[in-house]
Amino acid sequence: MQSFVGVGVFRGRVIGPARHMPPALAEPPMGEKLESSTAPETAAANVKAAGAAVKTQLLERAGRADGTGKEVLEATALMATDPMLIKAAIKLINAGTSAERAVWEAGESVAQMLLNLGGYMAERTHDVHDVKSRIVAELRGVAAPEIPDSAEPFILIAEDLAPADTATLDPTKVIALVTAGGGPQSHTAIIARSLGLPAVVAAAGVHDISDGALVYVDGSAGVVSTEPGDAEAAAVAIWQEKASLLNVFDGNGQLADGTLIPLLANVGGAKDAQEAAAANAQGVGLLRTEFCFLGNSTEPSHGDQVAAYKGVFDAFPGRKVVVRTLDAGADKPLPFLTDSTEPNPALGVRGYRTDISTPGVLTRQLAAIADAASQAEADVWVMAPMISTPAEAADFAAMCTGAGLKTPGVMVEVPSAALTARHVLDHVEFASLGTNDLTQYAMAADRQLGPLAALNDPWQPAVLALIQATVEGSISQAKHSASLEDARPKPVGVCGESAADPALAVVLAGLGVSTLSMTPRALPAVAAVLRTVTLAQARQLAYRAGAAASAAEARALVRDGLPALAELGL
Ligand code: PEP
Ligand code: MG
Repeated sequence: MQSFVGVGVFRGRVIGPARHMPPALAEPPMGEKLESSTAPETAAANVKAAGAAVKTQLLERAGRADGTGKEVLEATALMATDPMLIKAAIKLINAGTSAERAVWEAGESVAQMLLNLGGYMAERTHDVHDVKSRIVAELRGVAAPEIPDSAEPFILIAEDLAPADTATLDPTKVIALVTAGGGPQSHTAIIARSLGLPAVVAAAGVHDISDGALVYVDGSAGVVSTEPGDAEAAAVAIWQEKASLLNVFDGNGQLADGTLIPLLANVGGAKDAQEAAAANAQGVGLLRTEFCFLGNSTEPSHGDQVAAYKGVFDAFPGRKVVVRTLDAGADKPLPFLTDSTEPNPALGVRGYRTDISTPGVLTRQLAAIADAASQAEADVWVMAPMISTPAEAADFAAMCTGAGLKTPGVMVEVPSAALTARHVLDHVEFASLGTNDLTQYAMAADRQLGPLAALNDPWQPAVLALIQATVEGSISQAKHSASLEDARPKPVGVCGESAADPALAVVLAGLGVSTLSMTPRALPAVAAVLRTVTLAQARQLAYRAGAAASAAEARALVRDGLPALAELGL
């Protein structure tokens, strides 16, 4: 029996045959020259045509996908005809290199350039390699390296999936995902979660599993093993029995003593919002507006923005919808806002900071949000990403007021904002903890990197301390506020991935956060576990987690105190 431990990124236990992603296309030989019978113009035209064909294929796949997958595929399709890639290939052809070799080398150099940029750009190297192989396959007239086809459901094993692969996975065929590389916050992991597939990433060594071998995957524990026996079969049976309990959320997030903890959804556009409403989310805690415009090379028009936001508002009439202004940069570049040559994009001009380098875009976005809000019945709140100081919070609130938006807020995802929450909240109406970035900045660990997964863990006591500091800041702000009307602390919610971890959700409730926002698929499990504890018990567990010396100790202590997790197979 072989056993591998990685990072579990979505729950579920299955047993099934392993199928490996086919090896990447063989590299065209180094130094391969253009045949003397082929004119460089013809080879260049072939490369352009192959790029266009790949773009069409990917767009066709995008047409069959939806939600996040569709957006990712569309963005990848654009890369197939990316002028930088194609021009670099043609230059090599004109210097006498064969078309296949030229595309290969051009792809390698674009990918290397992105890798050097780090952050999200580095993550996109997978897309460039994917597109490069697809164009070469097209030139050779062979099938592109893709998810294997199989009559029976299987567990897909890969080094790391390109977003284009992940997005078109058929969840009735692929029953679990296991990758040797990748990180817990990578696009692959996020898409696996949105498809609801049990998934384990960063499981080194899984390439040694033989193709077709029966494999057991536990997406909660992050465990993968071969030769499953009675114990694994029993674990799967328990999971199947309990999983049905975790399929539905009744739309009422609360603790065992009736304390209300509204459970909201993270969405990237109207379609996500409709799905979230169907899943009984109590509102939207995070609309990632940059996801509406990821493929745009220019600023979206007022009309396009109003339509995109209104599509989301209309899914939640009478409910709260928290719109986050464009969070461009680092892992989500938008060409019209971000500088792709920054050496350190995660620490650069991103999120709210782009208002310094590209003034006007934020003001126009706020006008579009206000316009869309005036045409809909949702209770629209607006927040800025990457706020670092009380002065920035004040400036943002003034811009919101100027646009006629009444409920301005900030994301707390930079440690300085957590530590100065009392003063930040003097200027705005609410805060939302972005624990993905808060963790990356507290631990100085790039959230995209698999090898740093252990540091990039929101259970880290330092991260819990920053969350606690933010909640305490809101209480202190209320106490120091002169007006009686302001005596109630301003709400502090959580919209990072940590809210989707049922055990951590209990800790967050115990720390005093007011709402939790997550991928809609996580709602039933989080709701079920929250209902098993009173506020006093949640506080006790939060205290224990905060007093732990490590993330592993904090997690273990809390899990020990939550028998519901094992009962529900979580
Ligand atoms: C976060 O940082 O936790 C967050 C919710 O924002 P994003 O993941 O979009 O950076
Ligand atoms: Mg963030």
